Amino acid sequence: MSLNDATTSSREILTGLHDLMASRTHAQAKLNKVVEVIGEAVDSEVCSIYLLREGVLELFATRGLNQEAVHVTKLALGEGLVGQIAQHKRVLNLDEATSHPDFVYRPETGEEMYHSFAGVPIIHREKAVGVLAVQHAEARSYDEVEIETLQTVAMVLAELIAHAELIDPAGADAASLRETGTLRLEGLRLVEGMGGGHAVYHQPRVEIEYTVAEDVEAERARVYSAFRRMREQIDNLASQSEFGVGGEHQDVLETYKMFAYDEGWSRRINAAIDSGLTAEAAIERVQQRTRSRMQEIDDPLLKERMHDLEDLSNRLLRIVSGQLGTAAQMGLRRDSILIARNLGPAELLEYDRRRLKGVVLEEGSLTAHVTIVARAMGVPVLGRVRDVRRLIGEGDELLLDVGEASVVVRPTPAIAEAFDAKLALSQKRRAEFAAMREQEPITRDGIRVTVMVNAGLRDDVAALDVMGADGIGLFRTEFQFLVSATLPQRERQQRLYKDVLDAAGDKPVIFRTLDIGGDKALPYLRGHKLGEEENPAMGWRALRLSLDRDGLMKAQARALIEAAAGRTLNVMFPMVCEPWEFDQAQALFEAQRQWVLAHSRALPVEIRYGCMLEVPALAEALDILLPKLDFLSIGTNDLTQFLFAADRANPRLAERYDWLSPTILRFLRRVTAQASEAKVPVASCGEMGGRALEAMALIGLGIERLSITPAAVGPIKAMVRSLDAAALRTEMAEWLAHPPANMRATLTGWAAANSVAVG
Ligand code: PEP
Ligand code: MG
Repeated sequence: MSLNDATTSSREILTGLHDLMASRTHAQAKLNKVVEVIGEAVDSEVCSIYLLREGVLELFATRGLNQEAVHVTKLALGEGLVGQIAQHKRVLNLDEATSHPDFVYRPETGEEMYHSFAGVPIIHREKAVGVLAVQHAEARSYDEVEIETLQTVAMVLAELIAHAELIDPAGADAASLRETGTLRLEGLRLVEGMGGGHAVYHQPRVEIEYTVAEDVEAERARVYSAFRRMREQIDNLASQSEFGVGGEHQDVLETYKMFAYDEGWSRRINAAIDSGLTAEAAIERVQQRTRSRMQEIDDPLLKERMHDLEDLSNRLLRIVSGQLGTAAQMGLRRDSILIARNLGPAELLEYDRRRLKGVVLEEGSLTAHVTIVARAMGVPVLGRVRDVRRLIGEGDELLLDVGEASVVVRPTPAIAEAFDAKLALSQKRRAEFAAMREQEPITRDGIRVTVMVNAGLRDDVAALDVMGADGIGLFRTEFQFLVSATLPQRERQQRLYKDVLDAAGDKPVIFRTLDIGGDKALPYLRGHKLGEEENPAMGWRALRLSLDRDGLMKAQARALIEAAAGRTLNVMFPMVCEPWEFDQAQALFEAQRQWVLAHSRALPVEIRYGCMLEVPALAEALDILLPKLDFLSIGTNDLTQFLFAADRANPRLAERYDWLSPTILRFLRRVTAQASEAKVPVASCGEMGGRALEAMALIGLGIERLSITPAAVGPIKAMVRSLDAAALRTEMAEWLAHPPANMRATLTGWAAANSVAVG
């Protein structure tokens, strides 16, 4: 058969099938007719359709085999040639069927006279729901275009049997379960927590309604215009925040571009349209073919590429079908675990928090915007989970346990039960902590520790009182900038700051000025050439950027000063490296204070200035800096990455250095001692302080102010109330002078021996 013949023949079959589908006959009668139409068109002696019923493939219709075998011949998944095709979703093309190791003979079919055999899976929503097979008496193998035709026809058949409600949901599920069963996938811990729910893809699968084209040229025009739009989108993506900066994202983008402009891809889609498919079905058909080709190739690099092509193909499908919404826009109908390659912070915020029980990302890193926002939202996130799209089906039940760095897919009842018990225990603990709301964090020897929370989202503020915290020790003002599509104007900033102050009442709030740049790039600040740095964490970020582009900081200073009219304003500058940077920042605020005064507007009763210690160099200049400060706050996240020269976003280094290493503890003790001597209050506001054992060590070093993630307030209060700080301080002086081999083990042992509640 020539290529042109193949196209004509496939189009003829499709037209025939289209008419059949529209007819008002019974489903069985339709299938009987289908095998005739196909058999005739491809000139084959036998044409049979097997459908999956309750996990077994049943002969539903045949031309050429004995009619008595219909509904009698049944094959388990994996059994015989037909079972193999369905189980592995692959094509078999054999000139001598009997010599295949999986061949099984079923006498009732009378198939002994046929030598050659070709079969293709009938796939619906990526699951095999049946098999279409042709046979010939003569021993010959089928050429590629014939197989192509069969696959195209199988696609249309999938639609027909779905419409006729011949797909057995239990059977299809059973098939996929047998393929994959219960799985445990591992990833990287991004936001701790547990949650169970059904898998929801951020970009939902497009439902293809019609597979057979009524007007081939109209379908072609639709695909052309979709390609144009997709290429535009890809060209624009380069500058968008969801793609972050540098590294792997750049590679992904390059690959996207390569595929988007790949002539071969659009040509294959065009050919599929020629064969009589609609634009949607043609895209899907080409995708199926690529998928099955890739299955044969065992090259991890190519598989990664495949992933990108899948992404792009889905994008094209969404454009062509007009099904553009994300799962957030459609609304979550039940407890859900969201699955995405990557997300922007604003996209995450669109989801209903009550139903969103967790997020599984194929990419993601600890300091990605989405991670910071998810932590603030209290949504557990597992990142860097491989191959999710292949292994997790839409709607699959998932149990996410980030503490274990894993997600269980389609759990067995026993696993689900154990998970529920663990979840209940952690909820019970949380309830106990919530009940501690009124209890003060006072150590057994009478030290009142100040426990504040880190915040940044508008909603965090409402939780403040519930938590029973002493205030907000770190308000990350850049969050408002990260979740916004455009630069928040001064009025919008001022409104947020005022709302935060109102909600906090008489509890203090420490506003940190913008900490953007580096990994927290803002798409609308493109002119600033952010994101093109080799080393963004050590780049032009935070206060460096704010002082160089002081328009932003002036607006923020005005917004803060006016929002705090009549109250105390606490401001803190991030990433100060040398005292002059603090001086300049303070001068900028003072100039704004003068401006507000000159314009007869109400001023804060007091502005207190503080500074973050995140860069080790600053420790050498504390004698100069401390006298100018109202408070100091140690940002252990950045500080440790700079102390150890270990990128905090690099998962390979995530567990290499311990927060409880003598190096860090000695450094912190030195800074704390110097600040105390200068009578400057010193706090810790990194993630370290939110962990009970680490917080205990900080108190042991003399740090009595902690600003932590809200979820940790209960556990940290419990730890504080069970601690004898003086006893610990004596021990720690000794351990820091002569460090034990394993500081963590030593501290854990001491906590256990002294009944300190460190979890
Ligand atoms: C820190 O670096 O420890 C800190 C609290 O700031 P951020 O995590 O926002 O960089
Ligand atoms: Mg920091």
